[in-house]
Amino acid sequence: SKAKLFDQNTEVKTTFKDVAGLEGAKEEVQEIVDFLKFPEKYTTLGGKIPKGALLVGPPGTGKTLLAKAVAGEAKVPFFSLSGSDFVEMFVGVGASRVRDLFKQAKEKSPSIIFIDEIDAIGRARGKNAMSGSNDERENTLNQLLTEMDGFGTNTNVIVMAATNRADILDKALMRAGRFDRQIFVDLPDVRERKEIFEVHLRPLKKEQGLDTDFLSKQTPGFSGADIANVCNEAALIAARNGKKAVDKQDFLDAVDRIIGGLEKKNKIIT
Ligand code: ATP
Repeated sequence: SKAKLFDQNTEVKTTFKDVAGLEGAKEEVQEIVDFLKFPEKYTTLGGKIPKGALLVGPPGTGKTLLAKAVAGEAKVPFFSLSGSDFVEMFVGVGASRVRDLFKQAKEKSPSIIFIDEIDAIGRARGKNAMSGSNDERENTLNQLLTEMDGFGTNTNVIVMAATNRADILDKALMRAGRFDRQIFVDLPDVRERKEIFEVHLRPLKKEQGLDTDFLSKQTPGFSGADIANVCNEAALIAARNGKKAVDKQDFLDAVDRIIGGLEKKNKIIT
């Protein structure tokens, strides 16, 4: 079977309703939605629509979700790939994949390109000169820069990228006309965790009066992805025990399990 070049979703269902908390980030990306929907409104006075925005924040905080919601709100196609897909690649494949991605996105414009884990291709150049795959990574990065510079003023493709390490990115990526906007997507506070719980509790059969204030207080440091995990795990625990509805104890057990998983993960890293 032919390897998939990138993902393409022409009918994104995700909207801002699916993104809990992140009020500041949502406000900032609302502008991108507007650029995609009403480009003329912005260009009449000679202004140029930005080409790229960088979403910066810890893992699992909703960066991918937010980028997808921009496409869903603007009703434009969403093209995505992950920087980590480029790590072990044959010479020339990375650059040609990037070229292909931009070609498709331009044909379907207005559209969004989303590059997850951009640090995998966008690390500052000239470091790790010993590693053999470095040249290929640089080729891929150079192609990405070339494509973004080559956008005409009326291309109306916006490139969103995500990273949890903006500090290691090549400064060339942040130059004017490239990813010159940075949007911070942080871990949720207690109020935001409550909102995230509410989103992920929607599809569950749960006991009446389940206290989401309590749940959000039990989960300091959890990301949105962790909370989504808790909700799913709780439903599985309840089902395993033959319950008709997910109750508070199931959530507490799920929280314990996720904390156990997080501790293990941190142990491996350190
Ligand atoms: P990574 O840096 O690991 O790629 P990310 O920031 O892109 O992570 P997402 O992939 O968007 O995170 O989040 C994973 C899942 O966690 C989402 O699909 C969603 O189910 C849940 N989630 C994360 N943040 C939120 C949020 N703010 N509101 C609702 N759900 C969220």
